[in-house]
Amino acid sequence: MTARILCVEDNPQNMRLVRKILKRGGYTVLEAENGLSGVQIAEDERPDLILMDVNLPDIDGLEATKRIKAQSALHHIPIIALTANAMYGDEERCLAAGCDYYISKPFDKDQLLDMVTRFLTSKRESNSG
Ligand code: MN
Repeated sequence: MTARILCVEDNPQNMRLVRKILKRGGYTVLEAENGLSGVQIAEDERPDLILMDVNLPDIDGLEATKRIKAQSALHHIPIIALTANAMYGDEERCLAAGCDYYISKPFDKDQLLDMVTRFLTSKRESNSG
């Protein structure tokens, strides 16, 4: 079964780009256009990994991450934050909210795919051990 990745992203162009990259990597892509539906889909679908935009129209990606990570059934799902705000302190804020990793936009497609693969692989290894 291919890994399922939830992408929470409100910008259609960014969503299209991420979808293309992930599909090329052989992953199944689930999509949410805002923070609340991102949390809802995470609860309903329990994806293998979540790519979380930080700037969203309702609750931001950090709040959505907190709500997902607060649930014991979802806590193990790796969340990679994607943000355009390459501001000092962003990485710390993302990690403090519970994100497992942080990538600033514009990102390199190989870098994104590499991080996704790395998180999915390390999860499998820890599950089997
Ligand atoms: Mn956004």
